[in-house]
Amino acid sequence: MSGEVWVYSESEQVSGEVATAAQEVAKGASAEVRIVDIGSVRQGIRGPGGRLLLKGPVGPDVTPAVAAEALARAAKDSHPIAVLLGATRSGREAASRLAAKLGVGCMAEVARLASDGRGMTGERNVFAGKVVAKTRCEFPAVATVKTGAYPRAEAQPGETQEKDVGPVSDQSKVVGREKKAADAVDLRSAKVIVSAGRGVKKKEDLSMLEDLAATMHGALGCSRPLSADLGWLPEEHHIGLTGVTVKPDLYLAVGISGQLQHVAGIKDSKIVASINTDKEAPIFQASDYGIVGDLYQVVPALRRALSARR
Ligand SMILES: Cc1cc2nc3c(=O)[nH]c(=O)nc-3n(C[C@H](O)[C@H](O)[C@H](O)COP(=O)(O)OP(=O)(O)OC[C@H]3O[C@@H](n4cnc5c(N)ncnc54)[C@H](O)[C@@H]3O)c2cc1C
Repeated sequence: MSGEVWVYSESEQVSGEVATAAQEVAKGASAEVRIVDIGSVRQGIRGPGGRLLLKGPVGPDVTPAVAAEALARAAKDSHPIAVLLGATRSGREAASRLAAKLGVGCMAEVARLASDGRGMTGERNVFAGKVVAKTRCEFPAVATVKTGAYPRAEAQPGETQEKDVGPVSDQSKVVGREKKAADAVDLRSAKVIVSAGRGVKKKEDLSMLEDLAATMHGALGCSRPLSADLGWLPEEHHIGLTGVTVKPDLYLAVGISGQLQHVAGIKDSKIVASINTDKEAPIFQASDYGIVGDLYQVVPALRRALSARR
């Protein structure tokens, strides 16, 4: 089967990653990759191959419902063999709506995509990364691609086709948008992450870890309780199964017990080091280096030692 593999994401970064995944599928199916824009061409969105601009949706806000309807109308007409979206919050919603509208299978949050020409396969970590599930969908199919699983494709020139899909609106309305704080952390691209857990006794003590992270030119992450339960850090700092998946050169877990939901998010780190008072803490099983000790002594000592070397 040949044809087109469509790529859509509302995010600039993720669209490039999904485009790389799409190349893998396209290769096995002798297909072309096409980057889809909805409403207007977004110059920042990158990827190989041609572009398809879907005209018709009204308003500046392409909500998941609008994206799904626009993509479904276009796909019913052009018959791409696959539509790949990023597994972002919006992408997940748009993909499931799209698959339902087209009556085709949907693979969720997959990586290592491949195709044998009749369908595509993808792998997905389940049970907090203990098991890898291999899924397969016959073409045509929809999938969301795990964020951070692929490098970003380079933009290549290609022709842009336009298709009018007619007016598409959404029953829900965007009533406002707030920019994230300018200092919002990007843990996915951080080379060094110092991560705080419940071993930190109070919010003010986080500054100690922030200082250590700054000394190491790194970023501050945390376990889920610190963001979701205590609200000490914004949610984009939370690492793990339900948070961000990271792959730094060095991940330093400070006062984190190492439950599998947390470890699921740090498995691809090059080096994991940890500081914990409990020598039986599971984090040591997931670590290359471990210090059994009180973070209130070890962290300042580490910072002093690192500063002295500069
Ligand atoms: C469906 C589901 C999804 C989840 N997703 C996530 C997720 O994505 N990410 C995540 O992180 N969690 C997640 N969790 C929660 C997870 O199960 C753990 O509860 C959480 O990771 C524990 O956080 P922690 O290690 O900071 O705290 P704790 O488990 O309380 O560990 C604190 C650690 O600090 C050590 N300590 C205490 N004092 C000191 C000191 N002075 N110096 C050094 N060490 C000290 C203790 O020995 C202990 O090991 C999820 C749970 C569920 C049910």
